[in-house]
Amino acid sequence: MLRHSAMGRAALGAAGLCANPADRRGLDHPLSYTLDVTVLLFAKHPASQPRGTMTRPRSATIALPDWWDDAVPAEVVANSPEERMAFAIELADRNTASGTGGPFGAAIFETGSGKLVAAGVNVVVAASMAIAHAEMVAMALAGVTIGHHDLATLGETELVATTEPCAMCLGAVGWSGVTSLMCGARDEDARAVGFDEGAKPPEWVADLAAAGISVTRDVMRTSAAAVLIRYAESGGVIYNGRAALEAREEG
Ligand SMILES: [Zn+2]
Repeated sequence: MLRHSAMGRAALGAAGLCANPADRRGLDHPLSYTLDVTVLLFAKHPASQPRGTMTRPRSATIALPDWWDDAVPAEVVANSPEERMAFAIELADRNTASGTGGPFGAAIFETGSGKLVAAGVNVVVAASMAIAHAEMVAMALAGVTIGHHDLATLGETELVATTEPCAMCLGAVGWSGVTSLMCGARDEDARAVGFDEGAKPPEWVADLAAAGISVTRDVMRTSAAAVLIRYAESGGVIYNGRAALEAREEG
């Protein structure tokens, strides 16, 4: 059963100000939908900044869409695989329907209790940030939520991804501390509408298992893939890591 409650909702403002890290079992999560990560950003000429005049930002912000407050209340509990996947698919679908990002959703649950730790959607285009995939956003917010970079401090946790992780997210899974990964659509479903999953080890499922991270695939695959198709049919931006290569070939 999926339970929502507005209790405990709190705005955190800018990041790093995590929600009560001492009370990790309570997971007074998010609720800030803004994540500031201090980075040295040597960006390539953003469109808004002509060459020669660009500044050097000291932070990068991932802001989740305005509808997030309604979709991700302070308390969410989902116990079955289908409930967890349905929650993530709903986020992906809403992101697509609202025109706020790509057709991907992710959520991290405590495996035993079913409590939601954090969730994310793809905001690559809105954030001007190639790394802002749904899984990366969820993992980043999870760390901020619990006040620790390693989710293993929570015990067993499960990352739910509406589409199998790309090469980047796959790498991050191993660093995140989650102990299981559940996937909806497959790589080929994403590629079928034009997204590029990157160069992943062919035995990535076995590789994760060897690292202690179990993988469950094809949970509600048809529903998850349907979001990808709806996004493509609606004219959503299809971006991938091949842009530089294609520009060279065209040039
Ligand atoms: Zn990814």
